Amino acid sequence: MFKKILIANRGEIACRVIKTARKMGIQTVAVYSEADRDALHVELADEAVLIGPPPSAQSYLVMERIVQACKDTGAEAVHPGYGFLSERPAFCEMLEKEGIVFIGPKVKAIEAMGDKITSKKLAMEAGVSTVPGCTDVIQDAEHAQAIARDIGYPVMLKATAGGGGKGMRIAWNDAECADGFERASNEARSSFGDDRVFVEKYIEEPRHIEIQVLGDSHGHIVYLGERECSLQRRHQKVIEEAPSPFLDEKTRRAMGEQAVALARAVDYQSAGTVEFIVDAKRNFYFLEMNTRLQVEHPVTEFITGLDLVEQMIRVAAGEPLSFTQDDVKLKGWAIEARVYAEDPFRNFLPSIGRLVKYMPPQESEVVRVDTGVYEGGEVSMYYDPMIAKLITYGATRDRAIAHMRDALNEFFIRGVQHNISFLAALMVHTRFMTGRISTNMIAEEYPTGFYASDVPHDDPALLISVAAFLHRRYMDRAAQISGQLLGHERKVGNDWVVLMCDRHHPVRVDPAEGGYDVIYMGEVYQVRSDWQFGFPLFKGTLNGTAICIQVERRDMHYRLFHWGSQADVMVLSPRVAELQALMPEKELPDLSQYLLSPMPGLLTKLTAQVGQEVKAGEELAVIEAMKMENVLRAEHDAKVAKLLAAPGDSLAVDQPILEFESGSV
Ligand code: ADP
Repeated sequence: MFKKILIANRGEIACRVIKTARKMGIQTVAVYSEADRDALHVELADEAVLIGPPPSAQSYLVMERIVQACKDTGAEAVHPGYGFLSERPAFCEMLEKEGIVFIGPKVKAIEAMGDKITSKKLAMEAGVSTVPGCTDVIQDAEHAQAIARDIGYPVMLKATAGGGGKGMRIAWNDAECADGFERASNEARSSFGDDRVFVEKYIEEPRHIEIQVLGDSHGHIVYLGERECSLQRRHQKVIEEAPSPFLDEKTRRAMGEQAVALARAVDYQSAGTVEFIVDAKRNFYFLEMNTRLQVEHPVTEFITGLDLVEQMIRVAAGEPLSFTQDDVKLKGWAIEARVYAEDPFRNFLPSIGRLVKYMPPQESEVVRVDTGVYEGGEVSMYYDPMIAKLITYGATRDRAIAHMRDALNEFFIRGVQHNISFLAALMVHTRFMTGRISTNMIAEEYPTGFYASDVPHDDPALLISVAAFLHRRYMDRAAQISGQLLGHERKVGNDWVVLMCDRHHPVRVDPAEGGYDVIYMGEVYQVRSDWQFGFPLFKGTLNGTAICIQVERRDMHYRLFHWGSQADVMVLSPRVAELQALMPEKELPDLSQYLLSPMPGLLTKLTAQVGQEVKAGEELAVIEAMKMENVLRAEHDAKVAKLLAAPGDSLAVDQPILEFESGSV
């Protein structure tokens, strides 16, 4: 077994690999860029080597630096994690030349699967069912249209080198096909430096179900069940689970066997994933094989009891698998939610900044948190905006969901925007709960975006009684610590008014053993907790049932966060509540005259011209952020008065790009 390995990655996956290596008694070396000096993976590893400036192209992607770091530290093997150099044949070759082991499959397998066209051809030869389409590289927009008409719309244009949902466009007609071809090849060029694109049939109502395979260097290959990853936003996975609520035993076995056949065709030796797209009739088609560890591997680990990183390391060290296909038993249910630094209420804009407060839920037998950040650390613009992966387990799918809901309640993140509300909304969405999901579900269910009204709180009395508890405890404490003149003690009344969603809710709050009894609309709510002022989490019971609510005190009000919904609540004495009702409302400034940048990014194209009359829906500008092209379109008909930014400018959120003529909007 290796004595020392280097992890050529950052963030949660570097931390995750380090943990397993440590468990196996292997020394670890981290590499880091200047932006990651204080990163968690650097802290966790036994040694760390600086490999360059923040942009990954100058650090995490520079193969020579990583090889040099191995030589300098004496690392015998490299785990690449996912992304970065994990699927680069040249990197494996460079390592091999230096006698360093790559903890992953052999170069040939990576090469064969790295290209979507080659891998599709290989899969066809191995008897694996593939998506109908054409495996020719597209020359130009007309060529794309000709092929698309031949296959029949709708079609999908895909970058051959694609990954992470980038460089992919759906087209329903010729016009979309030409546009999609341009965008897919542009995105592919900027993300992968390879603009080849091909066309295949777009499978409607598709589910994304993938098979985990594991092979060793002795010719053994097994499959470890499936993961369903259908909940995606713009082809990026959001929620994954294992097993899939859709597969029956027969389909599971058929998919597993085809995945193994494909792996065998390329003499696969490591953990890998064969992705399939499955239609409503359970017909499945090969999409691609990822020759690396997947982001969502923890759900498989939960239901198989295996540590996939450990298996990868053992296989790379030449050990044979210690079990056979018959030994693989799937038990229980696991769900993973990806916690991203993005604002779901503003069209999922990426968010960057310092994690002023970061308290992940407690890990347990049923809760796992894979993360690469810490409180006080920074989510930078240079890398993937994932904050953490939250994984829960249960004997049944319902139990796993219930644990996920509770864990999301406890996940406290401040300083950057995050998508916890969105994840919480998905957990209780009827389509998710009943397993009727597809890769289109999010787009179908939230067609114009995600709004606070998509996460209504189904139990306002819970929020009202907790707010009453918080305030009463606060007032009782204030009464105790303020200077007390005999005969002038501060008295805390029992009657209060809770102001929530512009409505007054009168309550009575009576002290009781371990908390307060809150009487609201004739019902008694027994709220019990040892919560003290300043605790970010209110943990306690409501009528005997455990609850956990996030609490922030902001000026005059409390901000409560529970089941993904946020409520700003004030608790006032009856007299103050009466006066409060007379306060004038503050008006917000009118910004409709400006086109504001919805995200931090690079202005790559400014289509609009001064004096131009634009129509609603017309393209105004293109911003590149997180390597994605985002087209900004006019919301209304209007006339452009002034340009306030130029192509090449780096834009901040809400920075004005152009001004419309007043009265024209
Ligand atoms: P990437 O390598 O970028 O992850 P994939 O080929 O794995 O790209 O596809 C990502 C997602 O795009 C899939 O999970 C699926 O939702 C969707 N997709 C890909 N190909 C098709 C297709 N032919 N029809 C319908 N959806 C597709």
